Amino acid sequence: MRNFAWALIALLGLVLASCGQQEVKRRAKAKHVIMIGIDGWASKSMAQADMPTVKGKLMAEGSYTLEKRSVLPSASAINWASNFMGVGTESHGYTTWGSKVPEIPSSVTNAHGIFPTIFSILKEQQPESKTAAIFDWDGIKYVIDTLAVDHVMQRDHAGYGKEFGEDCGDPLDYVKEAVQVIKEEKPTLFAVYFGGLDETGHTYGWYTEKYYAFETILDECIAQLIEATKEAGIYDDTIFVLTADHGGIDKGHGGITLEEMLSPFIAYGKGIRQGFQMTDAMMQYDVAATVAYILGLETPQAWVGRPMTSIFEDQNN
Ligand SMILES: [Zn+2]
Repeated sequence: MRNFAWALIALLGLVLASCGQQEVKRRAKAKHVIMIGIDGWASKSMAQADMPTVKGKLMAEGSYTLEKRSVLPSASAINWASNFMGVGTESHGYTTWGSKVPEIPSSVTNAHGIFPTIFSILKEQQPESKTAAIFDWDGIKYVIDTLAVDHVMQRDHAGYGKEFGEDCGDPLDYVKEAVQVIKEEKPTLFAVYFGGLDETGHTYGWYTEKYYAFETILDECIAQLIEATKEAGIYDDTIFVLTADHGGIDKGHGGITLEEMLSPFIAYGKGIRQGFQMTDAMMQYDVAATVAYILGLETPQAWVGRPMTSIFEDQNN
């Protein structure tokens, strides 16, 4: 009888443990997140943008806002840090466009000595996960925690593209490597960063013919990333998150106009509400919190970002 009682308790324990595991799994919204980051992508450009995949598919069949705000100043390293670290400038401490280390000491640091990033919390909580990042601006490597990224690909600048007659890499070549990573590694979290649009803005001006032409090239790159998930067989369990660091005005950014501060956020894929224009206010640091929510991660106490829960079809679990 005593043996029976112990067996019953052990069985009960097993049942409870497996329920616990199911709970964790159920909380993840998708197994894969492809985080597409476009430097200098201004919300203001979207009215005129010729981006058939982004507008006709991702926005039309996903959830989006064009009101996502930069943290200040409205420049790159600062805002990429916020995208990955779930906090603003005062907490992560990166204060200039090209910050390689935080000028203000970060309010907390992880085991790698950097403010906790979406990559580091994923690796801590799901060590078996696969992480990857590709970027054509070296500034990204300082704000993702490369020690938490299994596959780090720093590449030459993929600039204006051949259409512009400039002597630099073509984004359509650059994206091929990202496509390969999706097909071969099926990453849990993959950040694909494009720096060329910002460069185009600085060289020719925001909202110019060349700026819009570059957006169209990026649209084709994004279409190829989506296609890659289909070929990899992970499309049905993937959420695409599109984000940016800042917009622009004339040939620059960094200031306090909404042209510089507003950039798009788009989510598309498994369980994401279709054709939904978000009405909740969104800050740059909410991007990291939303990705964490999708992957079923607990966020560090130091994070201030909150997940944009309205984008999910089923908002209750
Ligand atoms: Zn810039």
